[in-house]
Formats: sequence, structure tokens, C-alpha cells
Amino acid sequence: MNFNEVLDTVTNNEIYELTTNLVNIPSYTGLINQELAVARYIKDYFETENIEVFFQDPLPNRPNVIAIIRGCGRGKSLMLSGHLDTVPPYNMTEDPFSGKIEGGKLYGRGSCDMKGALACMMTAMAALRRSGTRLAGDLIFAGVINEEQQSEGTEYIVRNGPGANAAIVGEPTGMDIAAGHRGLEWIDITVIGKTTHGGTPTEGVNAISKAAELIYKIETELIPKFKERRHPLIGEPLLNFGVIKGGDQPSSVAGFCRISIDRRWPPLETFSGIMEELEEIIAELRSEDPNFRAEVKRYFEGSDMMLHKPLEIDLNHPLVETLQKALRITGQKEPQIVSFPAWTDASLLSNYAGIPSVVCGPGFLKHAHTENEHVHLSQLEEGYRAYTLAALDFCGMEENID
Ligand SMILES: [Zn+2]
Repeated sequence: MNFNEVLDTVTNNEIYELTTNLVNIPSYTGLINQELAVARYIKDYFETENIEVFFQDPLPNRPNVIAIIRGCGRGKSLMLSGHLDTVPPYNMTEDPFSGKIEGGKLYGRGSCDMKGALACMMTAMAALRRSGTRLAGDLIFAGVINEEQQSEGTEYIVRNGPGANAAIVGEPTGMDIAAGHRGLEWIDITVIGKTTHGGTPTEGVNAISKAAELIYKIETELIPKFKERRHPLIGEPLLNFGVIKGGDQPSSVAGFCRISIDRRWPPLETFSGIMEELEEIIAELRSEDPNFRAEVKRYFEGSDMMLHKPLEIDLNHPLVETLQKALRITGQKEPQIVSFPAWTDASLLSNYAGIPSVVCGPGFLKHAHTENEHVHLSQLEEGYRAYTLAALDFCGMEENID
């Protein structure tokens, strides 16, 4: 069987139509039973294609959909993973659920992030089944819940399987191969002061003023060190002051001030090291000023949510080579190895399930979550072709095994 015969079993229109159908079914954060309807649709699709499919239940009425094409057991297994949830419509200028096609683009919430990728993965599975290809290793589709929030879908797979020898997570990279990305955690620092009347400020300790000192110290002493921790592909650490809340009203000395930080780190740092470094800055401020008090903690402290560590795959891993080969055949340009700007579920698969993973999917991140979210049809075509060829190459074909 040559690969063109496999690819020809699915038409471009089918890929577009499937993407539209997925966009038509809302699955955004805040909906009751958020991903259930889209999960059912995907399960029906695989059943119609005679592909083994089942639900997992990470949260009540919010299933992961797992589909498997079993190989003969003599090849490597590959997982194609995508999340079923989207962010809310917010103030979209386009109808969020129309999935309309215009000017070579398909519009709607999730078209880019990442129902387009789901459609490419589903049709890749369908093509292999329709063509009667006998794979040597298993090909697994994982449609997972709640990636935009706490990734319970992928955490469930980490704990319960299925496993695989490698995984492709289809977040929108423009079909570049993202071989890594930063880790990401939110951190809360609460500065504690002492409330008094604004007319007698020396009786109190102003937590907002103390927080300003802390921010200044972080900006002038910590952030300049980040340059030395630069990773050649993934880049420097990042620290963003995202939210600050303090005090009760203008005539009271502020008794507390809480700063929420977004902290992103390359593999040269560790999360415990990041927390210690902040503790040290607080200890230094306290040694200079006994009135300075602050506590630092992980935003999700107390939950059993897995740490969102960085992703990194060895550039010599066979999956990287497989994708390069596939993209050279299907793409318009030489495949690029890049770092993905955002955190993804690939981190959990790689760090906690021991599944080396890359991020590679149709669409561009700059179009995700936007008011006119869309994906180019040419990206969907390339996604479908690349996933199909990657599966054939990585899992291998039974007929080619001696
Ligand atoms: Zn996404």
C-alpha cells in the first residue's frame, strides 16, 4: 500500500466539514457537562468508521474519548492528543459556533484551538482504517477534557493510560514541530501589613507600600539574572505580575496586598528553586525591615494538580525525524523546529507518563482565543496528511516487517 492510496481515502471537504461540525458543538469553559456533546459526536464518528472507541471519566459527565487502531504488536505506538474544550466566546465578532468557511479560512471558537487538529487526527485514523492498512504498532487518539483549565483529562491518562511510545499534541504551531516549551505555574505572594486609620499611618504597616518594595526588588535583582538561564531553544525564564489586590478603602492603611505572578521557566530551572528564590528575596527584605512580612505559595496549593513543568524532547528522538519526513512530503516549506510560546498537555505526557511528546498542529496560536478565531483550510489539509504519514512511519506497517 503506498501512502497516496491511504491519503486519498479522505477528501479535503470531509476534513473541513468535520471541523465545522465540531465547532458547531459548543464546549467552552462554564457550560454544564462541558465536553459531553462533542465527546459523544466523536465517539459516534469512530463507531461509524469501525474504530474501537471508549470513554474515560476524569470528571462526572465530562469524558475523555479514546480511540485505538491496534497494531500487530510489533511496532511502536503513537498517541495523537487534542483537547475537547475551548475558551468561552467572549466578545467574538464572528458567530462563535457557525464554523463558516470564507476566503480559505474556517471561523469559530475552537476552529484553531483546537477542533481543527481534532478533525485532522480523526480523519487520519479514518484513512488508515478505510485503506485497510495494518499497522505494526498501536495508533491512539486521545480527546481530553479541560485543558484550558486544569488538564484533568490528560492527568487521568497519565494515571490510568493508555500509554504510548510517543505523542503528538495538536496545539496550533502552524505545523511547525515544537520540541519544547516553558513550564508554567501561578504563584501568589501575600504581603501582610497592619490596618489603621489613614489619619494615623505611623500606627500601621502599609502592605501596598511594602508590596511595591518587593516588586522593585524582583524587577531589579531577580529578573536580570534570567538571561544567564537561557535555554537555546526554549529561551529565558519569564515572570509577569498579573494581578495585584490590596487594602479595603482609601482611608485605611492597607492590611494586606496580594500579588499573583505568572512564572514560566525553561528546563534549567526547577519549580522548587523558583519558590526558594522568592522566599530568599522576602527573607532579605525582612532582615532589612522587621515590619516586612510576606508569604509565598503556589496558586493551586492544596490541590493534587500536577506541576506544569517544561516540555523538552531530544531532537534525535525518532518522532522528531518522523514528523520532519512527513512534513517534507506534505508541506510547502522545510519543517521548522521551534519552541511553543504556551504551556500544553504535552508536558504532562512527557514528564509524568514518560511519553516523549512534541506539539504540532494546524493553525497559528495568534488566531486562537481571538474575536475572529479561524484556521486556514490549507493548514487542515497539511495537518491531516502529516498525522497520517507520521502514523504510518512511526507505527510502521505490518507488511514491511520481516
Ligand atoms: Zn489549546
